[in-house]
Amino acid sequence: MKKGKMIILSGPSGSGKTTISRYLLSKIPDLKFSISCTTRSIRKNEKNGKDYYFISVNSFFSKVKKYQFAEWEEVYPKLFYGTLKKEILKVWKSEKHILFDVDIKGGLNLKKQYPNNSLSIFIMVNSMKILKERLIKRSFEESKDQINIRLKKAKKENSYAKLFDFTLFNIDLFQTKKKILQLVCRFIYGY
Ligand code: 5GP
Repeated sequence: MKKGKMIILSGPSGSGKTTISRYLLSKIPDLKFSISCTTRSIRKNEKNGKDYYFISVNSFFSKVKKYQFAEWEEVYPKLFYGTLKKEILKVWKSEKHILFDVDIKGGLNLKKQYPNNSLSIFIMVNSMKILKERLIKRSFEESKDQINIRLKKAKKENSYAKLFDFTLFNIDLFQTKKKILQLVCRFIYGY
């Protein structure tokens, strides 16, 4: 089986990774989303098997024990997320490249395992104020506690940006999309 390429998008929750991922997937038909496993509850607009595989903590740890994850993290207290090895193989088998939307540790972990065929991009927001506003905007999905946990984590996470191949400040979404599309196309197709 031919190994495809990997695009790793990381950045704090609320930085715009999901929107940017969807944009890339809509523009590059050769790219497929890596569906992660998570133990968090499903949101109203999400579908099991499309956005995530929503599984129980027991099932998650049974997969951990069987070494089925390429990487996994307790991204927020008692909320586990992980990338299945077989998900990566499934995408490559279909002759596509794979796009990850993972937290920073997960992103760096994947980069370490696949240094030669991966492009890692850190999406950053230029102020905590903007990040807070974005998290509050979607707060019908998240409790106040969850928002504070996410903000606290984001403060720490910005210092990891330098470990990624590229950092993009998502100030103007239109510009960010344009830049990221260029970066990803150059990496996949060489132009
Ligand atoms: P959310 O709960 O908002 O969907 O995602 C929370 C965080 O978990 C985001 O930063 C997202 O990128 C990250 N995440 C999603 N899937 C994975 C995964 O498989 N592994 C890791 N390490 N992080 C993930």
